[in-house]
Amino acid sequence: MHSVYSGRGSSTATRSGGDAGTPAKVAPQWQEAAVVEVIDEAPDAVTLRLQLAEDSGFLAGQYYNVRLGVPGRPPPVQRAYSVGSSPLPDPSVIDLGVRAVPGGLVSPRLVRDLSAGQHLCVRGPYGRFTWSDDDPGAVLLVGAGSGLVPLMSMLRYAVVSGRTEPVWLVCSATTFDHAFYRDELARLAASEPWLGVTHCVTRDSTEPRATYHRRIDREVLAEVLGGALPARAYLCGPPAMVDAVAAALGEFGVDLGAVFTEKYD
Ligand SMILES: Cc1cc2nc3c(=O)[nH]c(=O)nc-3n(C[C@H](O)[C@H](O)[C@H](O)COP(=O)(O)OP(=O)(O)OC[C@H]3O[C@@H](n4cnc5c(N)ncnc54)[C@H](O)[C@@H]3O)c2cc1C
Repeated sequence: MHSVYSGRGSSTATRSGGDAGTPAKVAPQWQEAAVVEVIDEAPDAVTLRLQLAEDSGFLAGQYYNVRLGVPGRPPPVQRAYSVGSSPLPDPSVIDLGVRAVPGGLVSPRLVRDLSAGQHLCVRGPYGRFTWSDDDPGAVLLVGAGSGLVPLMSMLRYAVVSGRTEPVWLVCSATTFDHAFYRDELARLAASEPWLGVTHCVTRDSTEPRATYHRRIDREVLAEVLGGALPARAYLCGPPAMVDAVAAALGEFGVDLGAVFTEKYD
């Protein structure tokens, strides 16, 4: 068992259930993280790869707060962004996945204006939407839009830590080209027999790389699970999607105490 967490925080996320991880003594402090790479994920989204000066480890599924000065808007504005990378092998390097929200104060600037060599003010990790290799059994991951980011941290962590129990990942995006991590997911689905990846696209009825051309619904979940019940489920994305999926899982007989949610648009 790897120990990847020694920090503490309070979360502003809407969430239910979860394991707080190791209790903490020291609250995270703001720090200047170096941007080491900006990776295009989609026409409106990037991964910001950051080198932390101070790291106390993190758990797959946690997030960092980002603080940004916005012209005409003192004081600096703060937003939460999930870590998409695995805590292992090096938790001092974190990948934040950011989708530009039209009209947003912070996210369009993060997507458009940052480049390698610049610095970003961050504080974390925070959040109880976490999965560690202490948690046995088959897992269902359901994410829409940038809600895929913390699920990708879980999936990458599963790969690094050699888990082989079944994982179903169901993700939704407007079009396939807007789906985060689509190339890596295709490679992992081909190489990892324990992993099933299902893409839903909501605004392209002809996309051949997607299995479903609509939102994630009860029938999609029933077909993906094929009668099996996951021991745990992690749902992340817009509140309506998260609530609908949780309700469907409850109807299937999944223990709602083992359904963990994080809601954001
Ligand atoms: C725990 C957690 C984890 C998260 N992880 C991620 C992640 O991994 N990736 C990610 O991309 N996002 C993530 N988010 C969401 C992120 O924190 C931001 O909420 C998001 O990026 C939008 O911020 P913004 O400043 O760009 O937009 P905001 O300025 O907050 O605006 C959001 C929307 O509201 C509209 N709006 C703003 N002000 C007004 C107004 N006065 N009147 C009418 N409309 C208005 C804007 O046009 C825009 O459409 C996460 C959120 C939480 C809580």
